[in-house]
Amino acid sequence: MAAPQIEIVVVTPFQQNCQLLWDAGTRSGIVVDPGGDVPLILQRIAANHLSIEAILLTHGHLDHAGGAAELRRALPVLPDGAPVPVIGPDRRDAFLLSGITAQATSLGVPGMVDVEPDRYLHEGDVLELAGCRLEVRHVPGHTPGHVVFIDAAQRLGLVGDTLFQGSVGRTDFPYCDGPALIAAIKSKLMVLDDEIVIIPGHGPRSTIGAERRANPFL
Ligand SMILES: [Zn+2]
Repeated sequence: MAAPQIEIVVVTPFQQNCQLLWDAGTRSGIVVDPGGDVPLILQRIAANHLSIEAILLTHGHLDHAGGAAELRRALPVLPDGAPVPVIGPDRRDAFLLSGITAQATSLGVPGMVDVEPDRYLHEGDVLELAGCRLEVRHVPGHTPGHVVFIDAAQRLGLVGDTLFQGSVGRTDFPYCDGPALIAAIKSKLMVLDDEIVIIPGHGPRSTIGAERRANPFL
């Protein structure tokens, strides 16, 4: 299997890493965490000649999910006539997804709205998309329903706001759980091979090995 192609589109004033992931052969792809700036995301989808088969969400924060409803509306429907589905996160983030419009308004950030996923995800779900076999792992703590997507064979981890280069997700909101986040990173991510490349929701990519050696939070 050819390695999937990846392009990062940095979106929103929060500098969030929206990810385009596609199969180089079929150009069938997915969008992960379209937080906003949907016209820019659409431009990159067109520039790469992609047909998008799903929109994936790691968690319910507005900078990750705030553009998902608009993107779902803007994308061409699937061959069966259905809209491109929004998939994820775990249902425990539903309260965040239904609070995006209000939060964006209070922050004065335009273009981010509530979204209702077509499907919530669970630990152990497997998504065969974009030429990848993405395994779903529930990594709560930053938000209660945060999930990550791992393709061990392709050495790829899409980890949202759980693990960053040299850091971990913030846990200072009332619904956060710092000890749970560290425990889940250790049991769900640090068990992976050193060579797995992680693409976080903000900042540069890293590897499991680099974080195992040098991340001061672990
Ligand atoms: Zn977040």
